[in-house]
Amino acid sequence: MIRRENPARVSEIVGSVAQTPAAEVDAVVRAAGADFRRWAATPIDERLALLSRGADAIEAALGELSVLLSRETGKVLGDCRGEIGFAVRYLRWVVDHAPPAYADREVDDGLGRLIRQHKPYGVVAAITPWNAPVILAMLKIAPALAAGNAVVVKPSPLAPLTLDRVVALIGGPLRVVHGGAATGAALVGHDLVRKVAFTGGAAGGRAVAALAGDRLTPAVLELGGNDPAVFLDDAPFDDAAMDRLVMATFATSGQVCMAAKRLYVPAARLPDFVDAYLAAAARVLVTGDPLADGVTMGPVISAEARRAAEALRAGDCRDLGRFDAEPEAGYFVRPALVVSPDPRDPLVAAEQFAPIVPVLGYQDEDAVLAAANEGELGLGASVWSADEDRAVAFARRFEAGFAFVNTHNRTGMSLRAPFGGVKRSGWGREYAGEGLAEYAQTCVIHAPAVYRPGAGIPAGGPDAYPV
Ligand code: NAD
Repeated sequence: MIRRENPARVSEIVGSVAQTPAAEVDAVVRAAGADFRRWAATPIDERLALLSRGADAIEAALGELSVLLSRETGKVLGDCRGEIGFAVRYLRWVVDHAPPAYADREVDDGLGRLIRQHKPYGVVAAITPWNAPVILAMLKIAPALAAGNAVVVKPSPLAPLTLDRVVALIGGPLRVVHGGAATGAALVGHDLVRKVAFTGGAAGGRAVAALAGDRLTPAVLELGGNDPAVFLDDAPFDDAAMDRLVMATFATSGQVCMAAKRLYVPAARLPDFVDAYLAAAARVLVTGDPLADGVTMGPVISAEARRAAEALRAGDCRDLGRFDAEPEAGYFVRPALVVSPDPRDPLVAAEQFAPIVPVLGYQDEDAVLAAANEGELGLGASVWSADEDRAVAFARRFEAGFAFVNTHNRTGMSLRAPFGGVKRSGWGREYAGEGLAEYAQTCVIHAPAVYRPGAGIPAGGPDAYPV
């Protein structure tokens, strides 16, 4: 049994789910394999109708699901409502966009008909992290089911409850297994799994990629980030910008893949920046019970996460915002800005996934760009300037899947401009049109084949060649 405590009030057990031992994963995947044969033969309209009904059911339960999500993760209630509401909108977006994305395309190239057909893979294994469990699972579940795959999802044992409910509300060829790395590995390594979709940290990603690679199973990996936010020398430290920046770091207690995790400021402006940042935190950052009105930051997810966060509070460490939490009741960490740490310090060099953020002074733009582009993750980055064109020119030089101007992680997943960036560490893409394409394989039918061996090469070169 996996029992989940409320990270804001650890004496309170929010709920429990039955753990799926690795030995039982086989039966679940076999059942999913049987689902798959029926589901792949089901017309796309019927498949999408299941997703529409799922969206309606989740929306109807949004209030209750949001409270459950807040209680199991420690995320503030408004963010939980936002996450689940976005998952509903994403489901509906897939319903609208899947038919053209998965439609056949036929051309006659003069040598014959070419028909490009989209086919599901089979059973998709979806392995998801705890920090946004509903939307991150939905980015896999919705397109995978729309394309005709069956899905087995394995949530993080740190946040299994809301996703378990959401899976039941969608139904159809969607199953869930619960457990940690061993359950995940049994799923990824199963013979009937034909596509792996993983979101999580680098260590889990490496293990999953190795297992999938060994079986030649295609995989999508969405990994972590150590996003830099670079202030150019003309960037204003006005209240609105600084408020945005503070929440871009401390939403979900800094446990967001695309949070602003390292701040870079011209060295001469560092003291002014620190003053402005502390003032912004005093305006917008309130640590406390995530279900309480006015609280903008809850606890971290676990005792281990709290220990790791506390270890990062070193050097010139400035406490931030108002701390209204009872520190002993839950896994609360005082949010902090660490001024001018050593760039080799783990707080700067690795993803902290905690409410402690470093700020470093820099001398020139080329040097700060090189520092910003360091690391294996390359998920997101932001640049701040009074001159948007200058900022966009700088943003073009980031090595990251998403680059933001004068904000951070506010528009990365906009359904109005749905593009999915490719991260340096990413394998495959999720989200938007590219994310739909990930869950279907293409088969090209050639009819008729007209290549005649020995017929000679036409003037200007061949238009076809058997490779
Ligand atoms: P994690 O890697 O510890 O766990 C993610 C999932 O993988 C969990 O379900 C876990 O049980 C499973 N898992 C771990 N090791 C495994 C193994 N060897 N075999 C199979 N399954 C395994 O990550 P987490 O702590 O849940 O989430 C935090 C990380 O996820 C951060 O690094 C964060 O940046 C990243 N993240 C990335 C994105 C993105 O879209 N790029 C979004 C959210 C979070």
